[in-house]
Amino acid sequence: MADIIQLLPDHVANQIAAGEVVQRPASVVKELLENAIDAEATLVKLIIKDAGKTLIQVIDNGDGMSTTDARLSFERHATSKIKTAEDLFQLHTKGFRGEALASIAAIAHVNLKTKQERDEVGTEITIEGSTIVSQEIVVTPKGTSVSVKNLFFNIPARRNFLKSNTVELRHVIDEFHRVALAHPKIHFTFYNNGSEMFNLPVSNYRQRIVNIFGAKTNEKLVPVEEATEVVKIVGFVGKPEFAKKTRGEQYFFVNERFIKSAYLNHAILSAFEGLIRPGAHPSYFLNLTVDPQSIDINIHPTKTEIKFNDEHTLYAILRSSVKHSLGQFNIAPVLDFEHDSNLDTPYTDIKSVVDTPKIEVDRNFNPFQESHSMKGQASAFKRPSSGHWDSLYIGLESKKITPQADFKDMHIEGEEAASSLFEAEASVEQDHKTYQFHNKYIISAIKSGLLVIDQFRAHQRILYEEFLKNLTVKEGVSQQLLFPLQIHLPTPEVEIIKQLKEDLEHTGFVFSSIGDELIEIMGVPLNVPESEVSIILEQLINDVQHEVPEASFSAIDLLAKSMAKSLAIKAGQPLKKDEQEYIVNKLFACKEPNVTPSNRLTFVTVGIDELDKKFI
Ligand code: ADP
Ligand code: MG
Repeated sequence: MADIIQLLPDHVANQIAAGEVVQRPASVVKELLENAIDAEATLVKLIIKDAGKTLIQVIDNGDGMSTTDARLSFERHATSKIKTAEDLFQLHTKGFRGEALASIAAIAHVNLKTKQERDEVGTEITIEGSTIVSQEIVVTPKGTSVSVKNLFFNIPARRNFLKSNTVELRHVIDEFHRVALAHPKIHFTFYNNGSEMFNLPVSNYRQRIVNIFGAKTNEKLVPVEEATEVVKIVGFVGKPEFAKKTRGEQYFFVNERFIKSAYLNHAILSAFEGLIRPGAHPSYFLNLTVDPQSIDINIHPTKTEIKFNDEHTLYAILRSSVKHSLGQFNIAPVLDFEHDSNLDTPYTDIKSVVDTPKIEVDRNFNPFQESHSMKGQASAFKRPSSGHWDSLYIGLESKKITPQADFKDMHIEGEEAASSLFEAEASVEQDHKTYQFHNKYIISAIKSGLLVIDQFRAHQRILYEEFLKNLTVKEGVSQQLLFPLQIHLPTPEVEIIKQLKEDLEHTGFVFSSIGDELIEIMGVPLNVPESEVSIILEQLINDVQHEVPEASFSAIDLLAKSMAKSLAIKAGQPLKKDEQEYIVNKLFACKEPNVTPSNRLTFVTVGIDELDKKFI
């Protein structure tokens, strides 16, 4: 057979390499920003249009390039940053592979203008799909401007694969945050579709964090500082009471490079142990400085993972210094009158067993409503917050006025797995068809065996279909708040709310204003408790930010899913008989009772024959 192996032409090789380096507009943003920093710029301007799909431009006042270098910079493996393999272990720059510009130029329309200090005039190069279209002399200030248009113009499959502008913008903002946080001594500005999103002047680290995440962040930060032979740690962790339900602001930088490390993240979590609720995520902004020789950043092409020589020591140091800071700065509780105390568990209460409060205040009570007494039947919007769960069934409960009814309930509700089998048995005979197991599953006897329902998932399905209905017919009922609710959010998150405003209004939200970092809410969907609102929005924002690819994606769908998830009763919540029955009945009245909105099973059945087999 004849020889069949050929070397790939450069432009093909570049396109393949581009697949590794450039996944989405945010990857381009990252590479260009890093190049500007490597060129020692003190002022860096990022401009994007349509979340970077139409334009990404980075302008810096750094060193610039000579004409030859400008031309060479688009060649693959052309870099000024390392010369030998040994240099890899002495890296002081972000870039070192010399692939970024070549890759970007392979899959977009790129224009480069650059000038060094000592030169009179600069160089302008236009390159499209690895082909140089023009090279000219140009009058331009010292520094470099790279503009990238029509990303993936020659790879339609990749272009179609891009997500909505909201999602792509989110990724761009994430990259921008990472770079800007690592370099407070550089002035960054960021324009999206012509309007300024960020203007971050040179500042100290704390100010940089506050400038990015909003003025409210300031009071949440606890400084962390540690200097050992192995590592120097400087930065902040968020106070435990501000830990988020969803993964929020978590940043590790190693030698000014953003990295992800589940292992180090665990070190922080363990330092917070006992201070935050399980499942909550503390924020942190931590800069680790280590000897460049002790790390290997070369193991991943997009360079967010690195390998440490001595991970264990690093873990221990990190954990103890965060613990130390928390101890030092967090002994006295902070009095904050603006803070909604409904949202967090006081530190002292975390480990104690909490009694149900004896007096319940109905926060939804509206004296002007014609008839406040509930009708005794389920309304379209339930009020599912765990704390108010009881009141959901006020109507149903009121039927049980006979002492026997109360007595029955005492025996049945909150029964643990270990409780008497005969009692449960008896309860079924007494016309109760359901039984709650481990405060998590609802078990019901059916003809062919047993039905085991996951209460959280089932309720998600129920709420999801209700929300979806309200959203599509656009008639979610709103309840007016007595005092407008103010919620502080970082600008990019406000941006997401802005885009979802109309849909949110269809569910019953009423916004009185949406500012830069503050939204004011005048009305919320009927039966959504005020205390849950910020949690719902936080969850929603998080879901939008991490939107998973799905053919059926629509903002409405996402909103319904997200709200259902936030509001559904969780595992661990004891349910009364009628509450259990409500879930069962409502679930099977749903269009798709078998699965949650995210396609997970809501119930399983155990057939009588399966049981019979066990008794052979
Ligand atoms: P790398 O950053 O890995 O070296 P790039 O493809 O990103 O590879 O850049 C190639 C080269 O182009 C760099 O090594 C640098 O010399 C030059 N370069 C790129 N961007 C800039 C810039 N903004 N200012 C000055 N030089 C730059
Ligand atoms: Mg680079």
